[in-house]
Amino acid sequence: MSDCITEIFASNVFSRTVMQERLPKKVYAELVDVMDNGGNISMATADIVATAMKDWAVEKGATHYAHWFQPLTGITAEKHDSFLTPPQDSRTLLQFTGKQLIMGEPDASSFPSGGLRATHYARGYTAWDMTSPAFVKEMSCGTVLCIPTIFVSYTGDALDKKTPLLRSMEAINTQALRILRLFGNTQAKKVTPSVGAEQEYFLVDREKYLKRRDLIYTGRTLFGAPAPKGQEMDDQYFGVIRPRVGEFMADLNRELWKLGIPATTQHNEAAPAQHELAPIYTTCNLAVDQNQLTMETMKRVATRHGLVCLLHEKPFVGVNGSGKHNNWSISTDQGENLLAPGDTPNENLQFLLVLACIMKAVDDHADLLRCSASCVGNESRLGAQEAPPAIISIFLGDQLDDVVAQIVSNSESIKLLASGKLDSGVSTIPVLDKDGTDRNRTSPFAFTGNKFEFRMVGSSDSIAEANVALNAIVAEAFCQAADILEGAEDFHGACSRLIHDWMSQHQRIIFNDDGYSDEWVAEAVRRGLPNLPSMVDAIPALTTPKAEELYSKFGIYTKTELEARAEIMYETYVKMIKIEANTMIHMASKHYIPTAIAYTTRLGQSITAVASGCPQADLTVQRKLLIQVSSYLADASAALDQLKPLMDRVDAIQDIKEMAHAYHDAVVPAMAALRHPVDELELLVDKDLWPVPTYGDLLFEV
Ligand code: ADP
Ligand code: MG
Repeated sequence: MSDCITEIFASNVFSRTVMQERLPKKVYAELVDVMDNGGNISMATADIVATAMKDWAVEKGATHYAHWFQPLTGITAEKHDSFLTPPQDSRTLLQFTGKQLIMGEPDASSFPSGGLRATHYARGYTAWDMTSPAFVKEMSCGTVLCIPTIFVSYTGDALDKKTPLLRSMEAINTQALRILRLFGNTQAKKVTPSVGAEQEYFLVDREKYLKRRDLIYTGRTLFGAPAPKGQEMDDQYFGVIRPRVGEFMADLNRELWKLGIPATTQHNEAAPAQHELAPIYTTCNLAVDQNQLTMETMKRVATRHGLVCLLHEKPFVGVNGSGKHNNWSISTDQGENLLAPGDTPNENLQFLLVLACIMKAVDDHADLLRCSASCVGNESRLGAQEAPPAIISIFLGDQLDDVVAQIVSNSESIKLLASGKLDSGVSTIPVLDKDGTDRNRTSPFAFTGNKFEFRMVGSSDSIAEANVALNAIVAEAFCQAADILEGAEDFHGACSRLIHDWMSQHQRIIFNDDGYSDEWVAEAVRRGLPNLPSMVDAIPALTTPKAEELYSKFGIYTKTELEARAEIMYETYVKMIKIEANTMIHMASKHYIPTAIAYTTRLGQSITAVASGCPQADLTVQRKLLIQVSSYLADASAALDQLKPLMDRVDAIQDIKEMAHAYHDAVVPAMAALRHPVDELELLVDKDLWPVPTYGDLLFEV
């Protein structure tokens, strides 16, 4: 195959271009209409599309098809079925029907449903999401035609991440159009959120990875003393990419491009062995699908290069963790970005209204946003010194901050001046300089010129929930603004007043300084902003009356769906911490304690041997080492003795929420108590004896 990007790009995607080439004109037109405007296609059309899809996929080497969906596990799921029809007279035909394309019924009773499906009624249905194109995936088990689908229960409850996402996109579309109409825009037919997700990851050597049970079972190191060198020299960030990593990146890009994923930026990140990939942004739901495919492809390609891609948020203590910057904007089908400051005062008034709405949305629902970025791996990242704090605030940059301050300080409303400036009454607001935004890396939600960058999302997590929350809360604020302004006699006056009022009421959500500082935590308390340090603190945000009202108003989640999701989050937390604790118990009992015993034995033997061989020899060093090692060994053993019965007690708790809190409050500290002496031992014990690769081996030898 050619290496030319333009030739390989989207070569594995059943794109509109392919459809246009392969489908009868009428069928293509019907399909595109439904893709763009919603609705259903007829079964006859579905049959024609399915056959064309199958023929195309078979030419690409596909033998199977799969409905590709995103259950509440956070990753994707697929079950492969071949195109074979029942053989007749030793011959078989390949077939793919419209019915098979449109709907599936996987035996999916083992996916988490939070009680939405009683097991006796465990059916789940997948249905084609026509807004995300089908693609073929080349895997070790063969080439498979993948159909992106939603996944719902028999009663229509969402069992996946895509269904609510599509619902939230509809909500923001409807409400944003109302705002645009207020400003006289009758052209725009559709408003769509766009997303570009910057993905951070670590690469480690596969041989070394396989020697560590913690990496294998949990994706992160549960033990490990810091290497003599960390990231203090800043020599990794944007540094020269090492050849092995470079080959991985080149291979990865090719795979992603074939899938139509416009991977564009690659660089070394702050921590040793850490890297980042950013695609060019695209429609929200496609960006979510593509990010899932990116993560999956990264893992697959890494294996080919003798590497392992770690997507965990905090694989190594003491160096930066990994996140995902969710760049989000909203634009019309005419290409107008609602988050871009305009060139004219009228456009700027619209921009300021949109900004006021976003300030209101983020302030009203800071807890929901925080919750949307909660996953177990993010526990050790959020709020630490290198990641956004767990407190939600907005960074606007000096220029916009000043504009907001002027609007707020002015009791009069903003006036439009003939000179092409916005007059706040106090001083003149210039037409905003689009490149005037500065950078603040510590903010969880930063305005970066024509988009907001939500930086809290974890590197391993789906970006679906974050975007559901963003779309929903902004849709609600748009709706409230439109309700007020649609009937206004003096639109400009009313709009200016609303901007002034909302910016004043919600200015507390703006914070432009160092989000990592302790002062900010104290300041946030004074401002009354929620600080939800842990996922277990954030989960209740999903089921507050405020959240239920928001999500049910726009038909995004029902109360039952929200309760189910909260339950799954508690369950996931418990399960993952339990696996981590069990892995620690295993490693401590089978690797570290025996190693420490072997080392003390060796030291003891050495002391005896030296003493008998040379009675005058000074044995202080050996004795001191023996005492230190024995002491940490005793500490490790004591911590292990605490952890096991503690877990038994916690596991006996009936209520899942209570159990999650017990894991958080008791088990996690007990795990830290076990880690500490083992990490100290690592610094003392002979390197030859140490049973697993160290941080130095993992981070600096890729
Ligand atoms: P930065 O370096 O400021 O973080 P980049 O230009 O490198 O920004 O973009 C980061 C990510 O944001 C990329 O995935 C990019 O495609 C995406 N992005 C750029 N503009 C927009 C936009 N208007 N809406 C959504 N995402 C965007
Ligand atoms: Mg960025």
